[in-house]
Amino acid sequence: MNKKRIAKQIQEILNELYPEPPIPLVHFDPYTLLIAVLLSAQCTDVRVNKITPLLFARASTPQAMILLSPKDIENIIRPCGLAPRKSQAIFQLSQILLEKYGGAVPDSFEALEELPGVGHKTASVVMSQAFHHPAFPVDTHIHRCAKRWMLSEGKNVIQTEKDLKSLFPKKDWNRLHLQIIYFAREYCQARNHQASLCPICSMIHPNV
Ligand code: SF4
Repeated sequence: MNKKRIAKQIQEILNELYPEPPIPLVHFDPYTLLIAVLLSAQCTDVRVNKITPLLFARASTPQAMILLSPKDIENIIRPCGLAPRKSQAIFQLSQILLEKYGGAVPDSFEALEELPGVGHKTASVVMSQAFHHPAFPVDTHIHRCAKRWMLSEGKNVIQTEKDLKSLFPKKDWNRLHLQIIYFAREYCQARNHQASLCPICSMIHPNV
């Protein structure tokens, strides 16, 4: 079976399993999504969703955030890990948003990726989930699934993103990246995948 055909069948299964996948990180505008995604680096969404209400109760806009000190922010976000680096990034990017963009989050990959603490994946999530711009943010889950599904030989997420974009329709990228994340968490975990319970691999390589 060629890759495009496998991709189509996988998409059909994912559409059945997750017809309307919700955005996992609690937020209420592009700024709070940006902060939540930044906090999710090397941290679970569940933990981020416990911490962001505490942070956003103190500051949910760049204006309010810079009234806190980086140390204040660090103390609130500590359970998310990498707190010194993340708090500096949150403080500095809030300053930049105020100085350069009137306090708004820019609707552009280039502008987002220039912000402290914001890499291509974070920018892609914000572009996709806040601005509905077609993007395919590849995290560790998607990277793993793409490899197991033989859709990408990608040694890194950049190559995997390119491969997946070439295999799936652009109009579906935003929904698909969420569907794959939900699937990976439920069925295709790094260590615990249970082939007998899995609706996908039996079709690709039955001996998994
Ligand atoms: S069989 Fe295993 S590797 Fe394949 S999709 Fe299912 S869980 Fe993932």
